[in-house]
Amino acid sequence: MDKIKVGINGFGTIGKRVADAIDAQDDMVVVGVTKTGPSFGCKLAVKKGFPLYCTSDDQEKINSFSNEGYKCNGGISDLLSVSQVVVDCAPGKMGAENLEKYQSAGVKYIFQGGEKHDLTGLSYTSSANHIQNLNARGTRVVSCNTTGLSRTLVPLFDQCGSLKVECTMIRRAADPGDSSKGPINAIKPVLKVPSHHGPDVMTVKPEIEINSLAVAVPTTIMHVHSIIADLPEGHGLSTDSIIRMWEQTPRVIVMNGSKDRISTTAEVMEMARDIGRKWGDLHEIFVWEDGVKLVGNRLYYFQAIHQESDVIPENVDCIRSLMGTEEDWVKSANKTDESIARYYSTS
Ligand code: NAD
Repeated sequence: MDKIKVGINGFGTIGKRVADAIDAQDDMVVVGVTKTGPSFGCKLAVKKGFPLYCTSDDQEKINSFSNEGYKCNGGISDLLSVSQVVVDCAPGKMGAENLEKYQSAGVKYIFQGGEKHDLTGLSYTSSANHIQNLNARGTRVVSCNTTGLSRTLVPLFDQCGSLKVECTMIRRAADPGDSSKGPINAIKPVLKVPSHHGPDVMTVKPEIEINSLAVAVPTTIMHVHSIIADLPEGHGLSTDSIIRMWEQTPRVIVMNGSKDRISTTAEVMEMARDIGRKWGDLHEIFVWEDGVKLVGNRLYYFQAIHQESDVIPENVDCIRSLMGTEEDWVKSANKTDESIARYYSTS
């Protein structure tokens, strides 16, 4: 079978990771990545052998790459002409402009969580609605927070048939490479309540009733979610059975904060660096076993999200869904994750 040809529009925090994850797979290939102009990020594309294109079709901008010694293969239209699907990793809210380009080029498209659901009318997470996205023209992989919530809530919902959730997103202020955001010495509540993060889960799993609050805190390495979920009467679950269920769930890691001495996000990130993926990424959602407790019908738990990387394997599964090459999300997730594990054990 021919490999699926994937273009990456925007080779920043998410784009470079998605490109690597695709490069790890045997059923898809990166046919090119875009940058707005020459910058240090171009070096990585060259090193990886990803053909470099410009985000614009403006000839002057295209030429600016060669002035700095980079070979630019053309503008975004040239990249789209050799792609079957484009993964849009541009900064949030640029979607509408880019969508027109993708539609007129006739390529399939995947946006990221910085765009609203309304842009595509369809959203994606592997565990919630892979099937619903099969063969679709385009979709949006939900944000890192929504992906994290879906990872643990969807299997819980599947076990007990209804869920009412209240959660607080304790959000990192900025990504580590981002020097323009804050706060650096304050806790900043999101004063638009409820926040969009929780309700966004309903774009992939409308049956889960969920609301959220959010605060930004001065850290760069992870988000933490503090979650309260009300289960229906007669759910038949226990704290232990819920923990065992998450242990069996793809892309969820459960560890004991006290026994494993991993009680903060700093230690979780150190453990992620030990795993050995590039950039110290953690694709899995981290649940503290000793922070999970079911009291009657009410479940309390904490989880941590590596914001720059939990959505990366989802993008790979999403490509298979849009291209209709794998109907079973678990098979796709296993293939994606095993390929990534092999890739980093040898490169
Ligand atoms: P980023 O700023 O790190 O990277 C964006 C890249 O797109 C840059 O290389 C930029 O030069 C390029 N770009 C600029 N204008 C462009 C255009 N018109 N067309 C194409 N590319 C353009 O941003 P990011 O953090 O990678 O975010 C990308 C998307 O992923 C956003 O929707 C964001 O909300 C979402 N997302 C980000 C994170 C995160 O933690 N960083 C997590 C999940 C989802």
